[in-house]
Amino acid sequence: MRGRHYIAGSWRADGALIPTINPSDLDETVGEYPQASLADAEEALVAARKALPGWARSNIQQRADMLRKVGDMLLARSTEVGTLLAREEGKTLAEGVGETIRAAQVFHYFAGETLRHPGQWHESLRAGHNVIVSYEPVGVVVAITPWNFPIAIPAWKVAAALAYGNVIILKPSEYTPGCAILLAEMLAEAGVPAGVFNLLLGDGRAIGQTLVDGADAVTFTGATPTGRRILQMAAPTMTKVQLELGGKNPFIVLDDADLDVAVEAAAQGTWGQTGQRCTGSERIIVTKGIYDAFVDRLVKTVSGYRVGHALDAATQIGPVANAAQLDKNMGFIQRAKADGAELATGGHLVEARTRGHFLAPTLFLNTDNAMELNREEVFGPVAGVIKVEDFDEAIAVARDCELALSSGIATTSLKHAERYRRESTAGLVTVNTPTAGVEYHVPFGGRAPSGFGGREQGTASAEFYTEIKTAYINH
Ligand code: NAD
Repeated sequence: MRGRHYIAGSWRADGALIPTINPSDLDETVGEYPQASLADAEEALVAARKALPGWARSNIQQRADMLRKVGDMLLARSTEVGTLLAREEGKTLAEGVGETIRAAQVFHYFAGETLRHPGQWHESLRAGHNVIVSYEPVGVVVAITPWNFPIAIPAWKVAAALAYGNVIILKPSEYTPGCAILLAEMLAEAGVPAGVFNLLLGDGRAIGQTLVDGADAVTFTGATPTGRRILQMAAPTMTKVQLELGGKNPFIVLDDADLDVAVEAAAQGTWGQTGQRCTGSERIIVTKGIYDAFVDRLVKTVSGYRVGHALDAATQIGPVANAAQLDKNMGFIQRAKADGAELATGGHLVEARTRGHFLAPTLFLNTDNAMELNREEVFGPVAGVIKVEDFDEAIAVARDCELALSSGIATTSLKHAERYRRESTAGLVTVNTPTAGVEYHVPFGGRAPSGFGGREQGTASAEFYTEIKTAYINH
């Protein structure tokens, strides 16, 4: 695929092209993409600003119809998009198609939101007056997205922004621009007018400040240090910022857990999608009564996973997404060993690195919450088990972490589940199900420094994508 920017309704590509490599087969170039310049960014901002008044006042039925059409196209092309996703990012084909279907559902959901989104009418405190509260588009939105959900995350930002009457510039990850290009094609085909949706490719560092300066709002999903940087960039202009950042998510297994449920939820939550999920479990906290039985079963399950080419139907775990991530994973593994953690399974490349970034699912035992392995986000198929005395200690260890995005527990006790729901510091809590189960019709996100500036998805999205206006009317 030869990539281009999409600005003011036309496709552009100037300058040198940068290749993207298939992480399952390092000999395969998936596509070539240009790097957006400051001039491209400025042009996209001008185009978006020009398109804003028309889109903000557009007929909501037509807006809803366009979003629904994009959802329909994503469904119809889910195998094509899922295959590209698998080649670009390394998710298995089933995971790639599943993510594309999720993106379609997000467009369908926000098509409905366009029509459902309410205002309020109030009696005034003054006789003969009333008060109207309206939720107006925030304006020009810039969305900066990561490589790990290259179609779903752009979908939930673009669909929400457009539904509430905003215009948008999408800057997808430089590692996975192909899915965003397909999305741009579908938006154009659905009739979204020129300038309402714009696409800029390449590394965000080159154009970040210009985009932040020119936008009314910036929604960012990515690493916590990058999020901090964007917040600093936004300070002088006070540009509205929403950040969805890293997680160091705990999964607790209590003595009273159903062993089958606990092993399945821990394994899926930790190694599903090669562990490259902000909601993935990276710390598995186990009470001592069930420890031996649980660890024994978990190690057997994990070491049996088939790791391989993302498009091989037998593959359960695809490759690590890129060379930098593989190096990062290997660094964590080496330092965990040096810190005294016991390698229970994995820790090595499954095939020669020249063919693909195939890292065996890795589990360390005898870890504690002070080790780097349990404090910093790995964002790969690597996790540590922490043995604790009881539920009180499990909660204390789970809470002892800044990146509180998601948090799970396996227990058959309703009392324990409810106590955990109340005491967890995470934005998402799961009981007897993996930490990584995200649904688009309910709020998603964690508190700072895992998230900042309001939740995404569901009706909570409106808080970020709209500005409230309160009007007092003397009639
Ligand atoms: P990253 O922060 O390296 O990059 C994300 C995006 O930011 C890319 O598009 C990149 O080009 C851009 N960028 C980088 N520096 C920039 C700058 N100075 N100005 C403007 N843009 C800039 O993150 P990544 O490696 O792509 O993604 C992995 C991270 O994303 C993990 O930490 C993961 O936890 C997080 N993540 C969070 C969520 C969530 O919803 N909380 C979801 C998925 C991923």
